[in-house]
Amino acid sequence: MIRSVRGVHDILPTEAAKWQRVERAARGVFEAYGYAEIRLPLFERTELFARGIGEATDIVQKEMYTFDDRSGESLTLRPEATAGLLRAYIEHGLHVQPKPVKLYTLGPMFRYERPQAGRYRQFHQLDIEALGDDHAALDAEVITMLVELFRRLGLADRLEVEVNSLGDEASACRPRYRAELVAYLRTRADRLCEECRERTEKNPLRVLDCKTPGCRPVLDGAPVLGDFLCADCTTHFAKTREYLDASSVRHVVSPRLVRGLDYYVRTTFELTTTELGAQNAVAGGGRYDGLIKLLGGPPDPGIGFAVGVERVVQLLPDAGSPAGAERRTPRVFLIPLGEPALGRMLATATGLRARGLVVEVGYGGRKLGRELERAGRLGASHAVIVGEAELERGEAIVKEMASGAQRVVKLGELAEQLLALGGRA
Ligand code: ATP
Ligand code: MG
Repeated sequence: MIRSVRGVHDILPTEAAKWQRVERAARGVFEAYGYAEIRLPLFERTELFARGIGEATDIVQKEMYTFDDRSGESLTLRPEATAGLLRAYIEHGLHVQPKPVKLYTLGPMFRYERPQAGRYRQFHQLDIEALGDDHAALDAEVITMLVELFRRLGLADRLEVEVNSLGDEASACRPRYRAELVAYLRTRADRLCEECRERTEKNPLRVLDCKTPGCRPVLDGAPVLGDFLCADCTTHFAKTREYLDASSVRHVVSPRLVRGLDYYVRTTFELTTTELGAQNAVAGGGRYDGLIKLLGGPPDPGIGFAVGVERVVQLLPDAGSPAGAERRTPRVFLIPLGEPALGRMLATATGLRARGLVVEVGYGGRKLGRELERAGRLGASHAVIVGEAELERGEAIVKEMASGAQRVVKLGELAEQLLALGGRA
């Protein structure tokens, strides 16, 4: 037997109802905020991610599924959606639309990670990006929308909104902070793990993210970005928080919240929970002014977030998906006995389905008793039996499954009768 690949999962029909619920809620919320759906390819040129995520990031360094296709071109399964979405934005000239241009997408992402609870190699994200505006009110609106999604899913109370400002490369507050941080870390390298020492040189902000307990004392004493923000970044962050308050979005400032992408500036945020163990982030995002230009586009600023759908689904109560919801309960189970009756019932079934009823047909090959048993197991409210004798008389037997009560109905009136029953059942 060939099994599925490590870190990759089937979403079985019993779970799919929850997934549909999350996707429906997301579409509803995103569209209410003016976002339009964009559907993107699952693989792109490797170069796009190297540039769009950053050479020094964990994703690009060790998590990508990269391969040469038969023509020798290096391609990569998308590890996240932002780079591909920005590529499409530039390629199709979407920046000529009124700004901010608001786009959302959803689907599988691929990262070669160590599989564990809440961490997979194929996982799914809901992703939004708002492009072409850097007003702090947009930052607040994006975070408000994220919280609204979780409110509609009944999960908002179980999550915390963490925000931070990463400062800005251009205005020099981050470079100044980075230099300070690197100096601090280098002098304490002997008390840091191997990975932190490596990151100190390659991607120092990410050191703050280290989960190794032994590194904590050094990291807890590290300089804090907030103390280094320039006047513009300070105002932008204060305004963002003010608009969040105005929108009644409770949030906390996490001075050590840094994110994986190299190009995040200013506002960054995460939605976290204490209920999922080590994998505590259900969504994360931030502003990435400058990235669109870096990818060859116009100098448009941008902000976005991604929600990890597996982690959201894990938080949803099972009540969202009653047992058996994976298969729609048929209202009617048609049981023709013999070929001529089968032909007639197939046509009846098509007509009933077109009018909105869920209909199953027993194709024959089983005895009547077995078909009735099947109708019962599927939860049909009515079975319709048409044998040769009934067909000759132009009749059908309609059996109410719960009571076992039967009555005879004219074949010509069967569809109308069943539709009428449908209203009652
Ligand atoms: P983490 O710190 O958990 O690795 P990240 O910073 O790599 O997260 P992002 O790239 O910002 O995550 O992705 C946004 C969200 O996607 C995360 O908050 C998480 O919910 C989800 N996610 C990321 N990686 C995985 C994965 N390997 N399996 C399942 N969900 C994931
Ligand atoms: Mg990660």
